[in-house]
Amino acid sequence: MTENKYNNILVTGGCGFIGTNFIKYNFNQTDFKGRIINVDALTYSGNEANLGDIYEAYGHERYFFYKVDICDKLGIEKVFEKHNIDCIIHFAAESHVDRSISGPSQFIKTNVVGTHNLLEVARKFWIKKDDFNSKRFHHISTDEVYGSLSSEGYFYEDTCYNPRSPYSASKASSDHLVRSYYHTFGLPVTVSNCSNNYGPYQHPEKLIPLMITKMLNEERLPVYGKGKNIRDWLYVEDHCSAVWKIVHEGKVGETYNVGGDNELKNIDLVYLLCETVAKYNDKNPDYYKKLISFVKDRPGHDYRYAINCEKIKKELKWNQKMTFEKGLDFTVEWYLNNWD
Ligand code: NAD
Repeated sequence: MTENKYNNILVTGGCGFIGTNFIKYNFNQTDFKGRIINVDALTYSGNEANLGDIYEAYGHERYFFYKVDICDKLGIEKVFEKHNIDCIIHFAAESHVDRSISGPSQFIKTNVVGTHNLLEVARKFWIKKDDFNSKRFHHISTDEVYGSLSSEGYFYEDTCYNPRSPYSASKASSDHLVRSYYHTFGLPVTVSNCSNNYGPYQHPEKLIPLMITKMLNEERLPVYGKGKNIRDWLYVEDHCSAVWKIVHEGKVGETYNVGGDNELKNIDLVYLLCETVAKYNDKNPDYYKKLISFVKDRPGHDYRYAINCEKIKKELKWNQKMTFEKGLDFTVEWYLNNWD
């Protein structure tokens, strides 16, 4: 097991989907002995109650929560003053492509300006060069920055950026800023670009929980276009273990792709979900499949994302542990048990 080397980890966006899973993973599945300082603005996609169990177990001693916007520089500085932050794991973002089409401005604020604020505060507090060795700024990004693929080929760490939605463009900008702080100021950064995550605690606006909740409500299942777009699916806990590896063993200045090696057409994913939900609800899968309704495609909908993650596998000996079948079972079961 990777040995923990940080005392005070600042997690941004810890009340969101991946941040929540990461904080739980950290406390429950690693030898971490330090403190997690969770900074989250609690936008529509953040839910403080996700971490109720962590608060109960570690609140005020090893777990701290601050409702602060990452765009609020003074607010972030106060957190740094209070806790001797030695690692930042930056999840906070506006994360939904559709929302970036209907309202791009907030994406620029949070994803670009907010990330820049964090970089500036980290630089200010970690300014002593010899201090840099024991610190880490890890930035979580997406494979969407690489653009869209045809039915062949993969995204590699050195694939040129070609973002095509305001969401991916804002994430691309933040990735460039993070790397620039390494090259210009020597800030000890790492970046990871991952594919679509799935698992517990995801906001129901995203494809998998959207379909599950609609099935449970017996509502129409909206699928963009003809459902032919292809995505790679990564179980969220596998992503968390990759991030843990990168902040401990990853090389400063490097980028690591993290994927699930699990490509699926959206429509095939929806069929699989119909089968899984039907299994739990003792229904015929056709009952749910009949609810599928093809809707007008998303503007500029990228056809295919597929990620090559051989680098993290070879260099950091990371691997996915979850099979898609089991992961989907867990996810459906979780939504059934956490309906409210
Ligand atoms: P999410 O939308 O579920 O959570 C985002 C969290 O950030 C929320 O808790 C929200 O309250 C918080 N937040 C938003 N704006 C903030 C601000 N200005 N200041 C402080 N907190 C703010 O997102 P997620 O799915 O957990 O994604 C986490 C990260 O992973 C994002 O950076 C996203 O781009 C990246 N990512 C996600 C996926 C995925 O499949 N979910 C895939 C690739 C990359």
